[in-house]
Amino acid sequence: METKYIFITGGVTSSLGKGIISASLGKLLQTRGYKITIQKFDPYINIDPGTLNPYEHGECYVTADGQETDLDLGHYERFTGIQTTRDNSVTTGRIYQSVIERERHGDYLGKTIQVVPHITDEIKRRILLNATKENFDFVITEIGGTIGDIESQPFLEAIRQLRWELGPERALNVHLTYVPYLAAAGELKTKPTQTSVKQLQGFGIQPEVLVLRTEHELSDELKQKVAHFCNVDSKAVIQSQDLPSIYEVPVNMQRQGLDSICLKKMGIEVGPTPELGAWHSFLERRQKATETLNIGLVGKYDLQDAYKSILESLAHAGTYHDRKVNAIFINSENITRDNVAEKLAGMAGVVICPGFGQRGTEGKITAAEYTRTHDIPTFGICLGMQMMVIEFARNVLGYADANSSEMDSKTKHNVIDMMEEQKKITQMGGTMRLGAYECEIVKGSKTWKAYGKDQLIKERHRHRYEFNNEYIDEFERHGMKCTGINPSANLVEIVEIPKLKWYIGTQFHPEYSSTVLHPHPLFMSFIKNCINKKS
Ligand code: GLN
Repeated sequence: METKYIFITGGVTSSLGKGIISASLGKLLQTRGYKITIQKFDPYINIDPGTLNPYEHGECYVTADGQETDLDLGHYERFTGIQTTRDNSVTTGRIYQSVIERERHGDYLGKTIQVVPHITDEIKRRILLNATKENFDFVITEIGGTIGDIESQPFLEAIRQLRWELGPERALNVHLTYVPYLAAAGELKTKPTQTSVKQLQGFGIQPEVLVLRTEHELSDELKQKVAHFCNVDSKAVIQSQDLPSIYEVPVNMQRQGLDSICLKKMGIEVGPTPELGAWHSFLERRQKATETLNIGLVGKYDLQDAYKSILESLAHAGTYHDRKVNAIFINSENITRDNVAEKLAGMAGVVICPGFGQRGTEGKITAAEYTRTHDIPTFGICLGMQMMVIEFARNVLGYADANSSEMDSKTKHNVIDMMEEQKKITQMGGTMRLGAYECEIVKGSKTWKAYGKDQLIKERHRHRYEFNNEYIDEFERHGMKCTGINPSANLVEIVEIPKLKWYIGTQFHPEYSSTVLHPHPLFMSFIKNCINKKS
């Protein structure tokens, strides 16, 4: 089958969950046996979200091939189990960068470079790129932002052209909008949806399917009205009401036939609706897991989206242990030696979160000291692992000034130091140690057991600093073991204190590779030990 393209656009407001709808549609098509990929095109100018503050843009997700991307790619992977690549996340910045590079190279032979056709051509080329490398049945493309934003116009023009060139059997638009409820009038309002579809039509795009986000059940009458005003089949008006979990969205979409409608519109025969099997079992287990497990998240960002993948990984592992994880954010900036016991009271386990810069690091170190000395299961991730190492150096090895050279460039005891290869780098974006690297795990260690006795693993990274190998012997002699090493660069990837119940730090980010059907082994092992600790 020739590759077919589904474009997901959004109107009325942002944050309607286009990423979840894209991931759900991908999941449903995949369940029907199609080979799919999902990509995101973001209209902002940054080359990638790597330089964006999490307050601006939430978590920065990292693909196995080392691209810093939008957090929606995390949803794509968690829902479908596919591995996205650097070609699945594209921004306006990257589009312009390649056009400008070609212009400087003289490739345009004296032509004036314009948004149409040069920028739109580059957008089209990138939309089609994934399918030139692999044989996909469906490529789902989510367009970031909201219809009407000035910066999304070139993307809409590119989609319009592609729909024309590929024809209705190979290109389709699913538009997501919002139906607000006016409490004072007691009414659901469709006008914003009508306006948003009109705007899309103004760009020459007629959506085939509408997904209406709503907080209240929509009547058939209302859906019919929307269909009537928007030139859409009434069956192709689907509601996406708020659900207790994002993982219920595929089931809800399947029930309303989102996948079968798309197939029909593209002229594909729709077979029987496939069972969601393992996905259903996960949801059932999730619903039944009412006993809660409090996990403290020690970090500096007090917003959900900043630690998205960690929260999801904890939730996956919790479900498979029949627990509802109650992740409690504890701002590390407010943690002191005097209040740490109170702040961490009632936590079955603690995650020391990743991050950059000095702010909140002393609180992370204090939390690590408390959980180490009270044998509370602790999972340090990236900067979190580095803070565990610094704490150990200060309080066990006796180096009061121990630090990372990121926080204190002059410290004599730089137990965490900048990687050699990083020292020459001055450019900020995309220059860290990024993506999946191998790690050899020490036989018999807790991590080795957690991974099911797999000695060579591959995990994703995003950092500039590392464990300073000059200190390995000293740490090991005093009880903190380096149980994971990158075989080619000899970098320490994992530390653990075997004497304690579960005190493990990883330089890599296991949270990027936990999925609904394959929860990450380290999160599984962490949660298991948190439960033991509680009982
Ligand atoms: N700031 C630390 C480093 O660059 C840790 C990064 C992280 O937590 N992702 O090494």
